[in-house]
Order: sequence, then structure tokens, then C-alpha cells
Amino acid sequence: MPELPEVETVCAGLREQVTGLEIVQVTLNRPDLRVPFPDDFQKHIGGRKVVSVRRRAKYILLCLDDRQIIAIHLGMSGRITIIRADDPYVPQAHDHMILDMTNGVRVVLYDARRFGMVLLFHEDDMDSHPAFRNLGPEPLGNEFSGPFLKNILKGRATPVKQAIMDQRIVVGVGNIYACEALFMAGISPKKKSKDITLPMAQRLVDSIRDVLGRAIEAGGSSLRDYRRINGELGYFQHSFSVYDRENQPCPNCDCDAENTKGIRRIVQSGRSTFYCPVKQK
Ligand SMILES: [Zn+2]
Repeated sequence: MPELPEVETVCAGLREQVTGLEIVQVTLNRPDLRVPFPDDFQKHIGGRKVVSVRRRAKYILLCLDDRQIIAIHLGMSGRITIIRADDPYVPQAHDHMILDMTNGVRVVLYDARRFGMVLLFHEDDMDSHPAFRNLGPEPLGNEFSGPFLKNILKGRATPVKQAIMDQRIVVGVGNIYACEALFMAGISPKKKSKDITLPMAQRLVDSIRDVLGRAIEAGGSSLRDYRRINGELGYFQHSFSVYDRENQPCPNCDCDAENTKGIRRIVQSGRSTFYCPVKQK
């Protein structure tokens, strides 16, 4: 599943390639993904110019010159490919939406499992839109701080890992980055939210920012070929400390993997959690 760094990487590619271009034609190869495509989509966005590309949570926002916003969510398996005029386009079975832009640039949304979605709304309606109104702050923004996290976790019995993956608390912290950030902060994923102290909350905020920031940097620096931008994981999977490393020793840890069996895997809310029970308390 594309997580925040991958979505940010896709945004960077789109920003570079389609900002300032006009949408000439919209092709939809089916009526819906997880939800129907917007009504009269071609009529509403045809001829409009993309003035900026932003990200909110895991939505890619194409902001148009009449203040409409096209929001694209990649779901579980969505990928965006940008094809330039001199590149051949070989249609794939799950290419569900194609935006033909000026200069022959083509933006293709592929989504085999169709958990993704495409929304259209006016900029002024974004904050009250059902997809956005309950979202917590951006993990890399100023609002997300130690005191903010400590305060919002107060009184909650849910495990801290589940809490930081709750989009109403903070957006964009998916399973991989939750595991990595908790390891870095030295906090057990099983710890109750209400037991997180201010210093712990501060460490956790710093770790989330650090882990996501490094992943975005890794994605961005390997983005030389924008034709291949997509939502797939790939650039930084080799730098995980605990994720998907069951029974291996954790890095820079003085725990004895022979005795402690190294990194442990448990299941929380149906998702695998990887952590070092020695280092994370
Ligand atoms: Zn360890």
C-alpha cells in the first residue's frame, strides 16, 4: 500500500511534470473505483489548467485554475504514471483514468484492486468534505508536536501504535512507519496511549518526522525518471530497522538476539507489528 512518502514522491513528480498544463481530455474506462468517478467529470475539468499539486494526508491534490481540486487516493494498489509525448503508451488492463494534458503529456491512473478514489470539489469545500473534515494534522507540519500528541493521547486505553495510525490523531503514519518510529523512540507498540509521558510523546513526534522525512528524501532523490513514478514501495525498504525483520537482531541494539530471539512480530488490530522487546519499553 502506498504510504505517505510514496504519495509525496508521486506529488513531486506530478508537480514537476503537469503544473501549468491544461487538461484536454478525460478518459474513464469504468464508472467507479471505490466510489464513482465525479459526475460529468470531463465537463467540469476539461480545459482547466493545473496551477499546483499538493498533498493532504494520502490524497494527491491537483489544484485547478478555477479553484476546483481533483483529489486522488491510491488506495491499496493505485499507481500514477506520467507519459510524455515522445513515449509510447501501452494500455494496461487496470488503467482506469487517463488525463490527456497539453504538450501531449498523459497522466494514467492504474488501480488493479480499485480501493483508490478520485474526488472533485471546490477548494472552499475541502475542510467540510467527508474525506477531509476529520483528519488530524500533517506529521511534518507545525501543529504536530510533543504537547499536541501527549494531550490527544490522554485518557486513551488503546495501544500507542494503534493511536498513531489513527488518521484523526495524525495523518499518514502507516504500519511500516509506525513500527519504525516506535523503535526509534524506544517505546513499546503495546504501551497504552494514556501512559505516554511528554518526553515520550516528544521522542515519538521527532521519530515520526525523522522516519518519514528520510523516506521522502530517499524517494525524491531516486526520482530521476518521472515516467516511472508510481505508488510502489521500493526506494527505502532496505533501510528498515525492525519492519519485516522477525527474529533478526535489531540495529545498534545491545540486546542479545540469541537469547531474546531478536525482533518480535505480533498482530495488533489485524496488522503485523515488529519491535524489539528489549529496547522498546
Ligand atoms: Zn534489540
